[in-house]
Amino acid sequence: MSLTITNLSKTYPNGTRALRGVNLTIPTGMFGLLGPNGAGKSSLMRTIATLRDADTGSIQLDNTDVPRDKEAVRRVLGYLPQEFGVYPKVSAEELLDHFATLKGIASARERQEMVAALLHQTNLYDVRKKHVGGYSGGMKQRFGIAQALLGNPRLIIVDEPTAGLDPAERNRFHNLLSEIGENIIVILSTHIVSDVSDLCRQMAIINQGEVLLTGDPLRVMQALCGRVWKKLTEKAELPALQASERVKRARHQLAPVRGQNGGARAGRLCAGRRV
Ligand code: ADP
Repeated sequence: MSLTITNLSKTYPNGTRALRGVNLTIPTGMFGLLGPNGAGKSSLMRTIATLRDADTGSIQLDNTDVPRDKEAVRRVLGYLPQEFGVYPKVSAEELLDHFATLKGIASARERQEMVAALLHQTNLYDVRKKHVGGYSGGMKQRFGIAQALLGNPRLIIVDEPTAGLDPAERNRFHNLLSEIGENIIVILSTHIVSDVSDLCRQMAIINQGEVLLTGDPLRVMQALCGRVWKKLTEKAELPALQASERVKRARHQLAPVRGQNGGARAGRLCAGRRV
């Protein structure tokens, strides 16, 4: 199974070019779409999820033409959007049962079994009778994954799921995503590098609507090893550094921080860690 995106472009009526000739081939497994806010991730996700049409280009899920055969895609799609509403005064168990009915699972017994299994998988079984409106951010996201997994989807799209989660909940959410089968396509959009490096076998970096790079996240980071540095320095030395190096970001601290020998400390960034 694979998803092939060819030359996809989208310009909104206000003139914003959200997607510019995007080409991607997404295999089974977890695929990370990494980019800053406004890069075009949601525009791409919504187009793949059949919620928005592109101006030009094509999307093919195996032999299915995604924009032409939306119904066929929706039958195999699980989607967790960036923002989603819930009926606040309904319990997770009732709401999942309701969504399962909407997904066409007619047998009450089948729904009951599926909902119970998903509540266990997302660690929400003990709070299944609680109103979803009272859930914490992390619980709500786990509920979002449970509804996305209803009906055994073959293509799952998860849009910025860890934004706003505390580190413990993010970890729990990562564990949950990593348990989703290897034989289906899972597309995870995020602006957080570690979401991709911890979870994804393949990734694409997108900015201003363009795909800048694709590949295996660990290999991509290895290629940068020894080429990205973090340095603590005196403020007065910054202009000279900016003249000799490509400084991506400089942040001022109120008090100067010194190493043991009194000099400014420097560290090499390698695969996201300082060595
Ligand atoms: P991301 O998900 O990476 O943050 P988006 O796809 O939401 O990026 O946005 C890409 C660009 O398109 C941004 O400049 C955003 O402001 C713009 N945009 C998104 N949705 C709309 C819309 N409905 N109308 C006009 N511009 C939009």
